[in-house]
Parts: sequence; C-alpha cells; structure tokens
Amino acid sequence: MTAPILEVSGLARAFGGIRAVDGVDLRFAEPGIVGLIGPNGAGKTTLFDLITGRQSADSGEIRFEGRRIDGLPVHRRARLGFARTFQECRVLVEESCLDNLLFAAQDQRLGGALGRVFSGRRSAGREALEDAWRLLEMVNLPQFAHRPAGDLSYGQRRLLEIASTLMARPGVLLLDEPAAGVNPSLLNTVHDVLLRVAAERRILLVVVEHNMPFIMSLAAHVVVLHQGRVLEQGSPAAVQNSPRVVEAYLG
Ligand code: ATP
Repeated sequence: MTAPILEVSGLARAFGGIRAVDGVDLRFAEPGIVGLIGPNGAGKTTLFDLITGRQSADSGEIRFEGRRIDGLPVHRRARLGFARTFQECRVLVEESCLDNLLFAAQDQRLGGALGRVFSGRRSAGREALEDAWRLLEMVNLPQFAHRPAGDLSYGQRRLLEIASTLMARPGVLLLDEPAAGVNPSLLNTVHDVLLRVAAERRILLVVVEHNMPFIMSLAAHVVVLHQGRVLEQGSPAAVQNSPRVVEAYLG
C-alpha cells in the first residue's frame, strides 16, 4: 500500500491563549483538489504555515508520502515538493512573464536562498524554458510572455503566480484564496486552470477560499475548519448540507 500524499496528525499551534490550530488530523491519499474553508480566524492560513514550515507546530506530525517532514525548514520542504501561494499576490512586476517563471525555477532550485540573483533567460536550461512556455499556455498567458508582469490584470497575475509555483513540479500546491480580488470575468478562467493543473500534473491542490460557489464547484473534497479544529469534511454537497457547518458560519 502506498503512503498518502499528505497526512497531518494531532497538529497544534497556539499564539498566547489563542489555539489557532488545535489538534488537526487530515489524510489526503490521492491527487486532486481539496477545499479548505472556515470562518475568519478558523486557522486556515496557520495550517498552511505549519504544513509548509513557515511556522513551527507546538505538537503533532506532518508526513509527505510517508516521510516525516515537520522538523524540516521551509526550503527543504519546498525541495521535497511543497509549493504555495499567499493571500497577497507575489509576482515580479518589472520582469517579463517568462522571466517570472524562469526566476521561480531558479529560486526554487536554490531553495529561495539567493533572493534576486537572477541571471535571466540567457542561463535558463532548455528544459526550464520549455516548461515555462508550456505553463504560460496552461494559464492562458502565452501572448504576455515578453510583457512585464505589471501589465497584467490582478487575476492574470494570480494565474502567473500559480504557473510560477508549478515550475518546481511540486507534489502538493497550497493556494491561499486564489479567487480573492479576481475580476468576475476572469474567475471562470482561474477555476478552469486549477482543474487543468490537477488533471494534467496529477498533484494535490489544497485551496483555501471564501468564495463558496467557486470552491464548491472546484473541489472534490471539502474540509471545514472552525476554531482550529476540523468541524466537518466530505463532498461539497455533504458539507453544504451539514447543520454544524451552517451554524458555524451563521454563529
Ligand atoms: P482568515 O480567513 O481571516 O484569513 P484564517 O482561517 O486563515 O483566517 P488564521 O489566520 O490562521 O485564520 O488565524 C487563526 C487564529 O490565530 C486567529 O484568531 C488569528 O488572530 C490568530 N493568529 C494567527 N497568526 C497569529 C500570530 N502570528 N500572532 C497571534 N495570533 C495569530
């Protein structure tokens, strides 16, 4: 039997008296899209921070493909196959879209340690260049390859950021509110791109999102966090019909 892609058990992290993550157990065996929802302050971002190593857990275990990773620093986890986006979109606005991807590949290969020491397209390997073009196609931005990322709309920057994270060929991609601030006219594109990423790259996508129609039509499995604990999980329909979930959101 193969190990699950991602497994957390008994994960906890408090800030003073606030139990941001309070004994979370989760197990994702298959690639696909998981939605992570919950009211403000439920602990979603903290859970992402613990999984990627940005914050350390007070207790609990995190396993990636069976291997314990909770003692590893961020860059080691990234090299093993973790990537993420943040609530605020991070792209290099002065660099071209193509260079954004090549920079991401170089930065991730070096564990993000060298900051902005980027030698650009000239030093990029053929494989990285081909991958960058493939990803620009995947996120519908090939026509912007040589334009600065600053020329893109906010939603297009989100798509570029998602493509950048994929340059490292992660096994797990954690997305923090990919639909937030995106113009409604581009929401369908973001939605379709994420479905395509999951299908073509065969990876686990964990998506934090407050936009309910967006996440419920995107995810195959939804986890509801409330006050640092898993309140409910299951299919989108099951979660939406759960009285406990309705109460948590209304309460
Ligand atoms: P949102 O949907 O509003 O982004 P969230 O579900 O991502 O919320 P977290 O940001 O993980 O929730 O926060 C969980 C709880 O932990 C909140 O009560 C928050 O105020 C608290 N918290 C998070 N980070 C810190 C910190 N660095 N110091 C103190 N308290 C924190």
